[in-house]
Amino acid sequence: MDLILLGAPGAGKGTQGALLAERMGVPKIATGDMLRDALRQGTALGQEARRYMDAGELVPDSVVLGLVREALTKPEARTGAIFDGYPRNVAQAESLSGLLDEIGRRIDAIVYIDVPEEVIVRRMSGRRTDPQTGAVYHLEHAPPPAEIAERLVQRPDDQEETVRNRLSVYRQTTAPLVAFYESAGVPVHRVDGTRPIEQVQGEIMELLGQ
Ligand code: AMP
Repeated sequence: MDLILLGAPGAGKGTQGALLAERMGVPKIATGDMLRDALRQGTALGQEARRYMDAGELVPDSVVLGLVREALTKPEARTGAIFDGYPRNVAQAESLSGLLDEIGRRIDAIVYIDVPEEVIVRRMSGRRTDPQTGAVYHLEHAPPPAEIAERLVQRPDDQEETVRNRLSVYRQTTAPLVAFYESAGVPVHRVDGTRPIEQVQGEIMELLGQ
């Protein structure tokens, strides 16, 4: 199954995607995570992406397309993938269809995790990442184990001003993908992402008939 998670930054795509990937036995292809890895490793691609990411803008489509193409050729992606944070605009959606077409696959479903903007801004301010493992916690909703609490950091792009810009990019370029996939006849499942993680996960599994 090839599945796209849509929703604003901070809607819970990463968390739900990781749970789904584990349950369904397919990898999560998360371009944001890949870009942050490239940044950590100091690759040329990471250097190029940094200024876009720090400003909350999208990195060029060609950069992310290369990452996704590579991820899709890995053996573990043979039976499907969960796309998190990709595609983020219509051009990327078209490229993804092309990539999948080449390997005889197509997007089977969209899960759209709906969370109002005010809730997102509040959520992002509590989000913290472990720089050693990339694991994500939330000071209120998913507190980290005490022994690692001190080393957690806030993503530079989770600061309020950048969050507002990311939300505006989302509204203008990514949100229209819901209508794009609906008109292409791909099933779009909407879930209320303001509820607890387990409930959201349960509803997604039910909607997908898993
Ligand atoms: P995320 O972790 O998905 O919120 O992504 C963090 C940042 O990485 C975004 O604000 C963008 O700068 C960049 N990014 C991630 N995925 C994409 C994508 N598919 N296209 C362009 N930029 C992306």
